[in-house]
Amino acid sequence: MYFNTHTHLNSEELYHQRDVLIKKARDHGITDIIVAGYDLQSSRLAVKIANEYSRVYATVGISPNDCLETTDECYKEIEEMLSDPNVVAVGEIGLDYYWDSVPRDKQKAVFIKQIEIAKKHDIPIVIHARDAYEDTFHILQQSAHRGVMHCYSGSVEMAKRFVEVGFDISLAGPVTFKNAKIPKDVAMKIGIDHLMIETDCPYLTPHPFRGKLNEPANVVYIAQEIAKLKDMEIDDVARITAFNAKELFGIK
Ligand SMILES: [Zn+2]
Repeated sequence: MYFNTHTHLNSEELYHQRDVLIKKARDHGITDIIVAGYDLQSSRLAVKIANEYSRVYATVGISPNDCLETTDECYKEIEEMLSDPNVVAVGEIGLDYYWDSVPRDKQKAVFIKQIEIAKKHDIPIVIHARDAYEDTFHILQQSAHRGVMHCYSGSVEMAKRFVEVGFDISLAGPVTFKNAKIPKDVAMKIGIDHLMIETDCPYLTPHPFRGKLNEPANVVYIAQEIAKLKDMEIDDVARITAFNAKELFGIK
């Protein structure tokens, strides 16, 4: 019923518990899970996990925080991984001016190159943007492609602009935080037809589990909060956000 569009079961914290965590998620009604890559090693691992479990999918890509050493060989491997039927997107890719761990020109070059690869293979993109929404927007607008803004934390106005150029908005744990006015505003004002839900686990654990390790099953709390904010039934939030994800990622 629930589609968790962004997890890191490929992370050190979760990888070795993946069997238990996936079973627990299933017990909570999470039918579909995406494992997102952020560098070559984590992308390979995401593909491996996607091939171990049914209805678990992978995205492959190099994130802005991990792109300093990216070479043509890396792009070649990312492209090769796209031939696996369980790989549903290129990502997470984007710009991160919060950590600013890689020069911005390099971040942009790696981001644009991976968008080109995704376009060539007609596969969507999963965007990581932090403190870089304006530059991210201009690159995506020019790309004329499709995808999702993962763990979106920008303004409502910015979210509307992303939707206008073909990108959905995925909400994570912060929407459940008591003082998180902006994510709650986004949940209220962006139409359910453009929303997805995710945990980005092991990070960003939702209320009431803040401080504990986050896991895929917790996506239920994101859906619950959106249902409350939009005055909708939680089942409808689950069903429609899952539909949106399946449409974007081409999953039957
Ligand atoms: Zn992530």
